Amino acid sequence: MKIGVLAVQGAFIEHEKMLQKLGCQTVELRAKEDISNLDGLILPGGESTVQGKLLRELDMFTPLKNLIDDGLPVLGTCAGLILLSQNISNDSARYFQSLPVTVQRNAYGRQLGSFKTVSGFGQMRDVEMTFIRAPVITETGKDVNILSVVDDRIVAVEYKNQIGLSFHPELNEDTRIMEYFLSK
Ligand code: GLN
Repeated sequence: MKIGVLAVQGAFIEHEKMLQKLGCQTVELRAKEDISNLDGLILPGGESTVQGKLLRELDMFTPLKNLIDDGLPVLGTCAGLILLSQNISNDSARYFQSLPVTVQRNAYGRQLGSFKTVSGFGQMRDVEMTFIRAPVITETGKDVNILSVVDDRIVAVEYKNQIGLSFHPELNEDTRIMEYFLSK
């Protein structure tokens, strides 16, 4: 299985390590030529504004949007979730808009908003979750399945081919969320 990991900015190496541990082939997506024959796509955490700008400058935005719209399985974590979201309540920028949710950026505050917790995820229990200046999901559209709620806030959803997470599953040893994604 060949998984493309967007590698223009942010926490992509940790995703690659986890994917390789699970026996996947990974390809770092840094230019539009890297986007070929993918079985899945990871949009990592980082800074969504920077990633969005680079995606457009590098002409990667449209080919990736087309793949997502055509059903390629995609996992967006943190900034990656923001890139997928249809609406961002506290920012006028919009990116792929393929996931019918509204997110709020930096919902836990800018600097001190980093923490770890353990919560359920779909049928799984006690999944470790690391939040770093994370967004939360404030509204969900039709057919969006809510996978995790932490402190009354939605932090993980699934919709068709897309999984969006507020947190970083790649920063923990627990590989269950990644395995769930790969099963798609
Ligand atoms: N605060 C970042 C943003 O708004 C997301 C943080 C992250 O990806 N860890 O883009």
